[in-house]
Amino acid sequence: MRLVVIGGVAAGMSAASRARKIDPGLDILVLEKGDTVSYGACGLPYFIEGRVREAADLIVHTPEFFRKERNIAVRTGATAAQIVHARREVTLSNGERIPYDRLVIATGARAGSGGIAGADLPHVFRLITLADAMRLKNYLAERNPRRAVVIGGGFIGLESVDALRRNGLAVTLLQDSQYLLRREDPELTKLLSAHLHRFGVETRLGVRVESIEPDRVGDTRCDLVLLAPGLKPNAEIADEAGIQRGRSGAIQVNDRLETNLGGVYAAGDCAETMHVVTGRPAYIPLGTTANKMGRIAGANAAGGRERFAGVAGTCILSVFGLGIGMTGLSVEQARREGFSAVAARIEARVRPRYFGGKPVTVELVADRATGRLLGGVVTGEQDVAGRINVIATALGARMQVDEFERLDLAYAPPFSTVWDPLLIAARQLLRQM
Ligand SMILES: Cc1cc2nc3c(=O)[nH]c(=O)nc-3n(C[C@H](O)[C@H](O)[C@H](O)COP(=O)(O)OP(=O)(O)OC[C@H]3O[C@@H](n4cnc5c(N)ncnc54)[C@H](O)[C@@H]3O)c2cc1C
Repeated sequence: MRLVVIGGVAAGMSAASRARKIDPGLDILVLEKGDTVSYGACGLPYFIEGRVREAADLIVHTPEFFRKERNIAVRTGATAAQIVHARREVTLSNGERIPYDRLVIATGARAGSGGIAGADLPHVFRLITLADAMRLKNYLAERNPRRAVVIGGGFIGLESVDALRRNGLAVTLLQDSQYLLRREDPELTKLLSAHLHRFGVETRLGVRVESIEPDRVGDTRCDLVLLAPGLKPNAEIADEAGIQRGRSGAIQVNDRLETNLGGVYAAGDCAETMHVVTGRPAYIPLGTTANKMGRIAGANAAGGRERFAGVAGTCILSVFGLGIGMTGLSVEQARREGFSAVAARIEARVRPRYFGGKPVTVELVADRATGRLLGGVVTGEQDVAGRINVIATALGARMQVDEFERLDLAYAPPFSTVWDPLLIAARQLLRQM
């Protein structure tokens, strides 16, 4: 039996590797249109910044490694152009036909252009692939640009702002909506904008960019533009094959990550996933999700029967030393989903003052009707990851706020305060409910 995987990064290589574990006899072929597989796109901003010195440091494994160590064949420079499921064949762009018994689509996502004219000018960059990063890095070294405009205040946009500023550029961030990080949370946007301002970055919200000129965007002069207006799933290959897409435009899958075509699975940024809070399909393109989905899709393609539990959209990033962790729903999102959402926000020290504890802000969101915790945001310079992960765990367990408030969290002065900020926030939320 032959498994073909289209796409050789997080979801694709996880799928291939897991399938190999489940079935040592399976014939596995990965088709990747680029010339690199298995690299950490999440490290690209740090390569631009300079903390990661070589692009090669981001490559986890080579095609050679997969062939030798895992008996997985990888073909780079192989673009899948069409899936003909009736014949169980993938057609490559050069016309070659590749037969399969099972197929995993892991084609990822691309940066949308946001319909902006001039998006292909030579000083306009995206930061999605290793090739994008190399091009930007070379431009920085060779052209020594002085002023950058970043379009899009999602996590890729914000990490790019940080990286470009640390390269000495003056940076202006333009965002079409009133919110940063695509979270309808005015407090978070206010806090982040003020933080960016402290590091010399001007943030302009509600600015819809129509076109990019060679020397400016609107009235902002610049010699470099980083375009990050959001991700679009690479899901077009599904259409002709009769594979359904969801409302988000990403490929629809069931909880076994199988599409509407038997034996054809999809995972990672090209596919929808299930939101554990709403119980509805959602499009949340993240590396952690892609790896997990890839494992399940690979297991099932190799004959397993595993279910994907879904995600809460938990993510974390660092912008000029400020950690921002988010999980679940914001108040606005929760209201749109039909919850009677209520939120509490507190600021507290993460450790005692005598241990150098800095302030952290915690926001918790809950449903007044059921008492269920729906989401949270943690921002601060210390210990953000641990705390957002506790909230994410509670969401996965469908915890009530009063249960959350009784959690037995660890305390010793080098690590925490006797009342952890999460518990203080939960208590505040209970009062408001
Ligand atoms: C700058 C940046 C920072 C990020 N930081 C984080 C982070 O901190 N945390 C986090 O969780 N996530 C982060 N992410 C997101 C994460 O990198 C992605 O979610 C993850 O890479 C998705 O993996 P994937 O395998 O689904 O898709 P991709 O990584 O996009 O891989 C898809 C592959 O499929 C190939 N392909 C596409 N079409 C075809 C075709 N027709 N034929 C053959 N091959 C094809 C592509 O060339 C590509 O190599 C970041 C992403 C970026 C860009």
